[in-house]
Amino acid sequence: MGEELKPEQKPEEQRPEPAAVRIEPDLGFIKQVSEWGGGDLKTCFQCATCAVVCPLSPDVNPFPRKEVLWAQWGLRSKLVADPDLWLCHRCNDCSEHCPRGAKTGDVMAALRSYAYQEHATPRFLGRLLNQPLALPLLLAFPALVIWAVITKGGSFAIPAGEVAGLSSTYWGKMIEPWPWLDLSFIAAVGFVLISFYASVKKLWQGFMASGVQPDLKPKLTIPQALVKAVTDILFHRKFAECGAANARRSAHLLIFFGFAGLAVTTALVFVGMYLFGLKTPLPLGHWIKILGNASAIAITIGLVLTIVRRLTPGAATVRYGRGAYQDVLFLGVLTLVVATGIFSEVFRLATLHDLAYGTYFLHLTFVFFLLFYAPFSKLAHVVYHATTLTWAYHVGRALKTLPVDARVQAPVEAAKQGQ
Ligand code: SF4
Ligand code: SF4
Repeated sequence: MGEELKPEQKPEEQRPEPAAVRIEPDLGFIKQVSEWGGGDLKTCFQCATCAVVCPLSPDVNPFPRKEVLWAQWGLRSKLVADPDLWLCHRCNDCSEHCPRGAKTGDVMAALRSYAYQEHATPRFLGRLLNQPLALPLLLAFPALVIWAVITKGGSFAIPAGEVAGLSSTYWGKMIEPWPWLDLSFIAAVGFVLISFYASVKKLWQGFMASGVQPDLKPKLTIPQALVKAVTDILFHRKFAECGAANARRSAHLLIFFGFAGLAVTTALVFVGMYLFGLKTPLPLGHWIKILGNASAIAITIGLVLTIVRRLTPGAATVRYGRGAYQDVLFLGVLTLVVATGIFSEVFRLATLHDLAYGTYFLHLTFVFFLLFYAPFSKLAHVVYHATTLTWAYHVGRALKTLPVDARVQAPVEAAKQGQ
């Protein structure tokens, strides 16, 4: 006679098999992230120091250790939906403290580059923006648009007569009729808004389903959360919490406000022209011109500081990160926009018409490039960070409750108590 089983007991063979968890690493994804500056993910031995020292990481499911682990395993879809990628501000405190010397901040940046192209709508443009070989093709499109606008009714011919460099119709002679230029930019803005709407919707849905934040009960309404997120961004509050690369904050602030100032200047000129008969180019003493020139100076200083830091070898590479292709492309195009804008003005005032018109053509081409490809380039980080911060405040994913010192001590204390 065999042993009788109690009702709650089942013989071994009748017990349900534990659900099999099958991990299918995406090897192409691992290779891609490694090529884009995330090669150090292979050196990680999961000590979690980075998650402890990161000044922005939440206490629940902290980053960036889990991201490095997921990347090692090739868990592409988990990473693409991960909100924490966008909560990271690349301060590189984690890189400074990693005992294996891994550039963890660079791994996070490489993962974000991958995520840009996955969220991009349409996705093929996201892929092209990440391919250096596709750059000539991508540049050709805005160049052709601007060329078509000029050849439709304008001319590259030098204006005659009056002191042409100061003439109020100086650029108008080149780009006539103006509405074609404005219409092409309005169409580009429409495309960018639709693309961003689709990407942000995907991003938000991904965050909700990611499981990174266990409690999704709203803590703030979306408008309240948005106000907090925008305030954080305007004052760069999260940057201020960073340690290793805190100096990056000033350069970033200059670029941010310089860029915003130039965007506002362009909008004011546009409204002024159509509603109030404003003639361009504006005289140097006009308040809109002063705003534009002050913004150009701010962004130039910010760009110079950033480029010098990135080119400085040694410790600066750890502190400020290595440049992935997307970073270099964005910085390069922004620099070209600013440089061609400044030089076209200088050449116009110096009545060097050939140079002024040629440089202005390049300026319009680079501005169109920056605008049209914004949802697929590094520029999208402004929208993605704002969306993620809004989501984080909305669901109460507090970025940090323990000071860094307490976080460093916490695992040590826990280990002592366990002994
Ligand atoms: S500190 Fe370095 S080794 Fe430790 S988990 Fe982070 S990346 Fe890995
Ligand atoms: S770069 Fe800074 S914010 Fe990003 S994970 Fe590392 S320590 Fe945290």
